[in-house]
Amino acid sequence: MRYVSTRGAAPVLDFAGATLAGLASDGGLYVPETWPTLSQDEIAGLAGLSYAETAARVMQPFIGDSLKDGELRALCEAAYGRFSHVAVTPLVQLDHDQWLLELFHGPTLAFKDVALQLLGLLFERFLTGTDQRLTIVGATSGDTGSAAIDAVAGRENIDVFMLHPEGRVSDVQRRQMTTVLSPNVFNIAIRGDFDTAQGLVKAMFNDAAFAGRFRLSAVNSINWARLMAQVVYYFYAGVRLGAPDRAVAYSVPTGNFGDVFAGYVAAKMGLPVARLIVATNVNDILARALATGDYSRAAVIPTPTPSMDIQVSSNFERLLFDLAGRDGPALAAQMQGFETSGAMRLTNAQRDGAATLFTSDRADLDDMTMAMRWASEAAGQVIDPHTAIALAAARRADLDVPIVTLATAHPAKFRDTVERATGLRPAMPGRVGDLFDREERYDTVDASFAAISGYIAERASPLA
Ligand SMILES: *Cc1c(COP(=O)(O)O)cnc(C)c1O
Repeated sequence: MRYVSTRGAAPVLDFAGATLAGLASDGGLYVPETWPTLSQDEIAGLAGLSYAETAARVMQPFIGDSLKDGELRALCEAAYGRFSHVAVTPLVQLDHDQWLLELFHGPTLAFKDVALQLLGLLFERFLTGTDQRLTIVGATSGDTGSAAIDAVAGRENIDVFMLHPEGRVSDVQRRQMTTVLSPNVFNIAIRGDFDTAQGLVKAMFNDAAFAGRFRLSAVNSINWARLMAQVVYYFYAGVRLGAPDRAVAYSVPTGNFGDVFAGYVAAKMGLPVARLIVATNVNDILARALATGDYSRAAVIPTPTPSMDIQVSSNFERLLFDLAGRDGPALAAQMQGFETSGAMRLTNAQRDGAATLFTSDRADLDDMTMAMRWASEAAGQVIDPHTAIALAAARRADLDVPIVTLATAHPAKFRDTVERATGLRPAMPGRVGDLFDREERYDTVDASFAAISGYIAERASPLA
């Protein structure tokens, strides 16, 4: 399988190349040159398979020659063997046609583990036998950082530098990062906010003098391999609810549009997807774009669903590219317009194309609270606030098919909000039990380019 950039001016890469690169060199995102498909028989044949086996079958067409026969299956067994539920992503029924797909049984209690556990192994595999060392640099407002650190801690040939805003992540989130003491993990508290941290990371990738000295890579959802790993659970759940004979809808709590884009890919591959509900909180740029075609940035409003407090959804570019004839230069111009003015209009092809599969719904704090209460009182399920946004949207959707709400975080990660809404305080699962007794290690660094790039340059391995 070959991978092309959405902006048409970066080298075409194979799967291993696209995985290691993360972002394309022209500022675009890598996508497969064509969508592979699974036949109806192949989809029916997924029934009853383990999660790891399902994963290997769904992802194989994307990998091409980058892995040898059997290697993908072994990597999936290793990645998903670390989940605390044997089904990896179990389905739970809420009422006649509402379902939850629990994606939070990984080591750090967020759905990001599903993709990052595999990505860590893929990085390690693709670096083996080369003399390269990968330097992962990222900024986190919470969940991505801990999932990425857990996935690469102790792996060969990889260092990870994770910036978080000092004092602005929860104690649980900070400890999930800073109690990982592997020598290849560097936690950095920045004297500044998340946007500043993210701005510093971008500046380092864009600074030729700095970036040229290291093999830099990213672990946010611009990395194609992450999206690919998320396609799997759409199939896993769909087949359990009757696919390929019956269509299923999915409601997805959306921030960067990565998770819901994986649902689009599943549909392109042949899974009968009745609808993808893009559920947003009050930061509703996507809801507005899908309803009116106006994609324009506003100020971010902080909410109890921080992973969805996003105004620019990087993966939306992948959808716009696919819906507008895969014309790289045209999309590059459209995105550059957005980057300078903060606004753009979707073309008719993009709007009409999106409308065939996507609808969007925005849920505010009341909707979120009511959904948490309903899940707890009517179905005995305690859900996290992000999941509640999507469940609110799912319950309002008027569809006569099963609706699967993606449950993206364990409720214990957001205990205060859950307790306020339901009166129940979720217990920390055993696997993170002694988090508060473990030693922490991190450095606090000024939020300046010189300070942070100097810190990393002293500790990262230069290109061989
Ligand atoms: C990251 C995250 C999301 C948003 O996922 P995207 O792929 O960015 O749309 C939703 N919920 C939780 C709990 C998350 O950690």
